[in-house]
Amino acid sequence: MPSPELDISSHLDQTLAPALFQRQQQFRYRARRPLDSAQGACVRVAGRELTNFCSNDYLGLANHGKLREAAIAATRIWGAGSGASHLVCGHTREHHLLEEELAAFTQRPRALLFSTGYMANLGCLAALLGRFDTVYQDKLNHASLLDGGRLSGAKLRRYAHQNMTQLRAQMCADNSQRKIIAVDGVFSMDGDLAPLRCLADIAQANNAWLMVDDAHGFGCLGATGAGSVEAAGLGMDDVPILMGTLGKAIGSFGAFVAGSEALIETLIQFARTYIYTTALAPSVVAASRAGLQLIQDEPERRQHLLSLIEFFRQGAASHGLPVLASSTPIQPLILGPDHRALYLQDALAQRGFWISAIRPPTVPEGSARLRITLSAAHTHAQVEALLEAVASCWRELPA
Ligand SMILES: *Cc1c(COP(=O)(O)O)cnc(C)c1O
Repeated sequence: MPSPELDISSHLDQTLAPALFQRQQQFRYRARRPLDSAQGACVRVAGRELTNFCSNDYLGLANHGKLREAAIAATRIWGAGSGASHLVCGHTREHHLLEEELAAFTQRPRALLFSTGYMANLGCLAALLGRFDTVYQDKLNHASLLDGGRLSGAKLRRYAHQNMTQLRAQMCADNSQRKIIAVDGVFSMDGDLAPLRCLADIAQANNAWLMVDDAHGFGCLGATGAGSVEAAGLGMDDVPILMGTLGKAIGSFGAFVAGSEALIETLIQFARTYIYTTALAPSVVAASRAGLQLIQDEPERRQHLLSLIEFFRQGAASHGLPVLASSTPIQPLILGPDHRALYLQDALAQRGFWISAIRPPTVPEGSARLRITLSAAHTHAQVEALLEAVASCWRELPA
């Protein structure tokens, strides 16, 4: 909360203050809570140990010894900073190897590292599209895809969530030069999967390219962990543009786009968020390499996660909790009005669980929720305790 005595003496501050107070009055003010421990199934916040059910560290790798050691070893070799952008002199052998490993893992000729997923989406869409083009997006796509579409100058057409009929109708009257359908593989606030096979068919029928943002599928889904595209049984012909992030299941930080030689070379030449930014720190890259290796060496992490998802869903059903239809680690509980989500968040915090309420504008009006995320770091007992706490708080929810 901005304190009531918020200093608004300067012209800048006076101009900014009304929007801050308005947000506060709407109960939509966002605040950070500093962690006093590393990421994990249990974290320390404000002097308390809380079981953490809101991170995207789906495989429990963010604080894994191998990632830590890789980062430390790389720091000894390469130092702390990369020193420059990739095209100047910041592209180390470490970056190059990670790109090759990501290409091999996603079974594509090339992969290109970006500093964040946000920048990968912005850079990719803006490099591939211009004002004579059209980008089609699910209304619930991640903000970075929507912003990338806007930045590109292309016509932006949004279809209702998962509505393939509407998408087909929008596409049939389109004579743009280039067309991209951009979609989250796993929707970040709902946990459901995009109908990738259907989208690939629609793209093919309309001469469009399908771009999948697999931030939440990469590392978790598919037989080898290569993500939602692998899980759908699709390849590069169906999904020529694959974007994944390294800050979620991989346990590190950064992102990549994988695809053909020509796609990657185009991004190197034209993606401004690739060209005009400092390359990732080598320690971060080394941690990503270790995370990617663990995903391949320890499929049991994925299996454990899947078994927790199943266990959670069965438990939620038996407690009568209305979780959305999601087969992924993202298991949201829709509360509707903001105050109900906030109530449940606080009641669960009192019982030792950390789950953050997600409110508009991150999610549509009237669909405030608790975004419960499961991780391979959790035990069945922790999930069971969560279910019992949620069920008990649920009975006391305000209207
Ligand atoms: C987290 C996320 C991003 C952004 O990735 P960062 O590396 O955190 O910038 C992009 N798309 C989706 C769907 C995400 O969930």
